[in-house]
Amino acid sequence: MKRKSLYEISFDYAPIGISIVSPNGEFLQVNPAVSRMLGYSEEELLGANFRDITYPADVELNEFHLQRLLSGAVPSVQFEKRYIHKQGHPVWVSLQVSLVSDEAGKPQYIAAHIIDITDRKHAEDQMLEARAMYSLIASHSQDIIFYSSENGICHYISPAVEALLGYEPESLIGRPIQHLYHPDEVEWMMSGFQQEFKAVSHRFRHRDGHFVWFETTINSTRGEWDGVKRYIGISRDITERHHAEQALRRSENNLAQAQRIASIGSWEWDAEERSLVWSDEMYRIFGVDPVGFRPSFEQHLLPFIHPDDRDAFRRGWEEALEKGEFQCECRVLPQEGMGKYVRIQGEASLNRVGRPVKLNGTVQDITSHKWITMMLEESVDRYNSLKKYNMDAIVSISLEGIVTSVNPAAERISGYSAEELIGIHYSGLIHEEDLERTNGLFRTAVRSELTASAELRIRHKLGHTVELLVTPAPIYVSKRMIGYYIMAKDITDQKKKDELLRKSEKLSIAGQLAAGIAHEIRNPLTALKGFVQLMAHSSQYADKYLPIMREELERIEMIVSELLMLAKPQDALLREVDLAHLLEDVVTLMGAEAHLQGIELKLVPLSGRIAVRCDANQLKQVFINFIKNAVEAMPDGGTIRIETERAPEQTAIVRLIDQGCGIPEEKLRQIGEPFFTTKETGTGLGMMVSQKIVEHHGGRVEIESEVGVGTTVMVLLPAEPDKTEQAVMAELRG
Ligand code: ADP
Ligand code: MG
Repeated sequence: MKRKSLYEISFDYAPIGISIVSPNGEFLQVNPAVSRMLGYSEEELLGANFRDITYPADVELNEFHLQRLLSGAVPSVQFEKRYIHKQGHPVWVSLQVSLVSDEAGKPQYIAAHIIDITDRKHAEDQMLEARAMYSLIASHSQDIIFYSSENGICHYISPAVEALLGYEPESLIGRPIQHLYHPDEVEWMMSGFQQEFKAVSHRFRHRDGHFVWFETTINSTRGEWDGVKRYIGISRDITERHHAEQALRRSENNLAQAQRIASIGSWEWDAEERSLVWSDEMYRIFGVDPVGFRPSFEQHLLPFIHPDDRDAFRRGWEEALEKGEFQCECRVLPQEGMGKYVRIQGEASLNRVGRPVKLNGTVQDITSHKWITMMLEESVDRYNSLKKYNMDAIVSISLEGIVTSVNPAAERISGYSAEELIGIHYSGLIHEEDLERTNGLFRTAVRSELTASAELRIRHKLGHTVELLVTPAPIYVSKRMIGYYIMAKDITDQKKKDELLRKSEKLSIAGQLAAGIAHEIRNPLTALKGFVQLMAHSSQYADKYLPIMREELERIEMIVSELLMLAKPQDALLREVDLAHLLEDVVTLMGAEAHLQGIELKLVPLSGRIAVRCDANQLKQVFINFIKNAVEAMPDGGTIRIETERAPEQTAIVRLIDQGCGIPEEKLRQIGEPFFTTKETGTGLGMMVSQKIVEHHGGRVEIESEVGVGTTVMVLLPAEPDKTEQAVMAELRG
């Protein structure tokens, strides 16, 4: 075997293709690298023309270079062209072609070195494509795309910046990008440059000064050649999204707040996932801690419901799945404290085949609503039965005085039916003598929302008088007074009883007084008897004794007439009386008995004449009672001071100050109760009757007492204007 020359070896093993071609283009010799490159075997290539396997579009270029070479213009050419691989695809090659000529300069053959550059060509293509694509994207992007150096100097910024921020891109290049950031965010954004960051929301300053919300992503690259770091930023205008997000957050907050205020929670149940989602308010209504709590229908919603309501709730739920909606009211078991009433309402959403996939709904806490309704119903019931079964008349009248409603008791007391009463003016019922006073009371009541009780008389349908104790209560509707409820108690019987009481008290006083009086009368009578006997024997003493006898008789007459006055029927006879006179009478009447007990009655007028409009007999009885009590409280004798005083605002005061045993505090409260007495033979009526009489005269009684020191009973009565004062005033007025 012939040994290959070194040249042949290097030809065969060369990594690049080497071919020898005839001037007309036929392959004369090829090395294995060419075969590998083009896919043809050496045998297939030898004798073939290179033009046959050249990429048609490159034939012309190839011809051009070949002609330059053959014409001797250049000794060698280098160019790039494509062959067609045996399998049909193009193969990019770089050709270094030289012409080999004989001594006469005639071209003999052509030598070509062929390097496969397909990979490089592909990479180049890709790069070109990427670049074209990039500039296309950058210049048409809705987003702002920018390059900057590490210190933020802008190298490139895409045209979108003009539309979004109003700057021409050229005006920004070479300037720091941070000029565009919101002042509050510069530092933060620049520190962000140290790392890369994704989708950060921030603001850019628009050329006209306002700020626009953007979302920016920053990536860094390091230049392969210069090693310098560059940053590529993509910023997207998110103004609308930002606003939408804010609006969403706002409406979420509003919803939560609204739910809280209305005590309405919302829920969503997914039939497929069998999951339940609750709004915050739901947790509040059911009283559970939302942390770590995942509500589910079977485990949570149902067990919360009161066992008696569960069936109804379950039925509602199933109904919703069938018919699309449900609503039910049920009780929720208490988690802590009280149970609740809720209204649960739900609605199904169906999928495309009409199968329910979701239930959405609300739960409303209606506990307070329920309570109010229940209380309202109860109070209406209570009010109605109160009205219906009340023993007292309850009549409502308008501000004009028209009767608008009556209860059965009002019918009974007045003798008129409800139909007869409703619509009439109240004055039609009042006793003629009380009409003026009643009208006055009504007028003040309407003006000043009066609620004080008063006694007045009405005429029964049958004509007799009915005495009433009326208490007005203003009726308010929406804070406005629209009329009055008049509650009227029939006190006719009680009045009669009072009267009886007064009479019996009087009798007992009379009885008690009798002893003292007998004594008082017996003395003058004994004297008279003596005189009469003397005069029977001789009339010479008549002139001497008759005046004394008259005096004694007058005294007897006075005492007897006082007693008679007390016994008179109690028809109030109001007359103007001098208080001092009245008290003098009382002292005269009582003085004797008091004296027997070693007690002095001392009248002390602190002011001048005080006139009081009163029934003198009744008032006398009052003071007799008080003095009797004082006397009884002073078994060891002493002085009873009776002061009279004119106080401001037309008030007359009578103070009965004794030095008696006093009244312990706990008893003080009971004084005035009928039959309260601490005495063996006491009636316990005196204080009560006296107080009543004083009250009838528009006055009141006050008692101060200290055990062992004494008691002061103070009687306050309306006084008549001072006559002398009046006269002076009249004179002054002329
Ligand atoms: P009576 O005198 O029949 O007991 P009263 O109604 O007049 O009934 O008095 C009731 C009670 O009030 C008396 O029993 C007495 O305890 C007490 N009381 C009234 N006035 C005085 C007083 N001046 N000093 C002490 N106790 C008095
Ligand atoms: Mg008494």
